[in-house]
Order: sequence, then structure tokens, then C-alpha cells
Amino acid sequence: MKWPALGYLRASSLDELWRALGDGAQILAGGQTLLATLAFRLSEPGTLVDITRIPELRGITVTGGVLRVGALTRHAELGRDALVARHAPLLTQAVPHIAHPAIRNRGTIGGSLAYADPAAELPACAVALNATLVLARAGGERRIKATEFFTGLLTTALEPGEIIAAVEFPLAGPSQRATILEVARRSGDYAMAGLAAVLDLGADGRIASPRLTFFGVGEGPVLAKNANAALEGRVLDAAAIAAAQAALEGDLDPPADLHGPPAMKRHLCRVLLGRALQSFTPATEQAA
Ligand SMILES: Cc1cc2nc3c(=O)[nH]c(=O)nc-3n(C[C@H](O)[C@H](O)[C@H](O)COP(=O)(O)OP(=O)(O)OC[C@H]3O[C@@H](n4cnc5c(N)ncnc54)[C@H](O)[C@@H]3O)c2cc1C
Repeated sequence: MKWPALGYLRASSLDELWRALGDGAQILAGGQTLLATLAFRLSEPGTLVDITRIPELRGITVTGGVLRVGALTRHAELGRDALVARHAPLLTQAVPHIAHPAIRNRGTIGGSLAYADPAAELPACAVALNATLVLARAGGERRIKATEFFTGLLTTALEPGEIIAAVEFPLAGPSQRATILEVARRSGDYAMAGLAAVLDLGADGRIASPRLTFFGVGEGPVLAKNANAALEGRVLDAAAIAAAQAALEGDLDPPADLHGPPAMKRHLCRVLLGRALQSFTPATEQAA
């Protein structure tokens, strides 16, 4: 299908953006989702406001004890950035799972988080890493935890006139273990089920602050509270993994979709949980 008739404006600063955002205006970032929704007439903005030339939304820095990633950071940039690899290695691991190189060269972290696809990798990583989103509007900004930002299917806490300006990630310490695993029908497809797993592993082998977060199995990222509680303070061994798998039952309520029934998704999540935790055990780490 063809796009509807619409206007186009390119903002070159935040001030210009605030002036351009009005009734019927929609932000255009990488366009990798938005342009497809226009073609299918799922979205009919009066005007597209292109934010890709706004310098305040760019850059990856370590500032004030956090890794700050500008909203316009493209997936490919995220995947090859040395600061990201050092301070939030889960993101580096996540990028190759996102779509294909052409999409990764255009799509942005801000667009991915704002669109909030339940099967997308970066929203789950943001929750698993306990990230904070910096939301800007004319005259100010506010911060919101990723756990509170995703409010339902393709919906977020963004208010009219607000944009994602940046995402702040706590710096990974030496005890952090992180991995992302998913099952997809073909390489580059959205996941049928996925897991972004982050935890701290002490020198005594005990787990602290586990944040297992599943994607593709709910209306948004699913922080597995019961499984995480089952792991907290335990030595990472086969018994702990089995306990987390059992507790996971209480965390998931996956809808049936084109891929299969809820029972299949639950099974995939148990398997992913087992694989992720197994990869953090001393025996596996030594063998790698
Ligand atoms: C074939 C295909 C396969 C894909 N596979 C995957 C996949 O496996 N995993 C995955 O995670 N993603 C996948 N994607 C989506 C891709 O990652 C997109 O880049 C991403 O969803 C949107 O980012 P964007 O910058 O292109 O945003 P756009 O398409 O420009 O915008 C998307 C939405 O977000 C809003 N928006 C954009 N930036 C901001 C901002 N800073 N503040 C507030 N609102 C904003 C827009 O107004 C729009 O509503 C796929 C896309 C395609 C086309």
C-alpha cells in the first residue's frame, strides 16, 4: 500500500522539535517500524517530524556513574561501541539478534523502546539492566525506570509532547553475568521467546540481584519476579536452576500466537532459563 498524504519537517534542535510537535505530528527516528506502519495505514500522522539531526539526542558517554546512550544511537552503533561493551555487555550481545544489518544500520534505541514491541530485544535488556529512561518535553525532562515505562502491548508511559532523549544504564561490575538467548524461526526474525538474563555472582558462588527478563511471551518485557526470588542468595548449581524453573510457572502468562500455544512458550522459557544459568556456572565459564 502507499503512504497516506502527510507533511514532513526536519528538526535540527530540541527547540525546533518542541515548536514542530503539535496535533497530528509524529516523530520519525530510524523509520524501520514507522514507515511500515504508514504503508499499512496503521498510523496516519498529519506530519512526520524527523529527529535524526538533533545533536542533543546523540552520543554514548559515561557520566555521573551511568552509561548514557542517546536515543538516536543506531543498533549497529550500539553493537560496536567500546563503552557499551565494557559497561553494559548485555547490549553488545543483544544487537546481533535484532533483525538484519540493513535494519540495524537505521533503527535506533529510542525508536525500539518507544515502539515497545513485546518481542523486541532492547526493551527486555533495558528492564534486565534496570535502566532509566530520560524523557524530554518542552521546558523540562523526567526520569522513569524501564520497569515502569512499559505499560502494556505497544504502550508506554510516554505522554503527548514527550520524547525519549536518552537511556541510562548502571555500570556493570566485575561480578555481573549477562546473556541474551532466544528462539526464532529464522535468524533475524522477532523472537518466539527470549530471555535477557543479568545477575551478580559472588566469589562464594552465590547469586545476587538476579533480573531474568523474558520477551515475546507477554504484552511487554516480563521481569520474572518469582524465578528471581528463587535465585536470590543461592549458590548457582543444578538445584538452584531447577528451583528457578519451577518458580517461573508463576511469572508467565503467555498468549497463544502464530508461533504456538502458551504451553509451548512456557516450555521454551524454561529451556532458555536453564541454558542461561548454566552458562554462568563456574564449570561452563572455565570450559569456555
Ligand atoms: C523486517 C523487520 C524486522 C525487525 N526485527 C526486529 C527484531 O528482531 N528485534 C527488534 O527489536 N526489532 C526489530 N525490528 C524493529 C527495528 O528494531 C526498529 O528499528 C525499531 O523497532 C524502531 O526503531 P526506529 O528508530 O526505526 O523507529 P521509528 O520506526 O522511526 O519509530 C518507531 C516509533 O517510535 C517513535 N519514536 C521513535 N523515536 C522516538 C523517541 N526518541 N522518542 C519517542 N518516540 C520515538 C515513533 O514516533 C514511532 O511511533 C524489525 C523491523 C523490521 C522492519
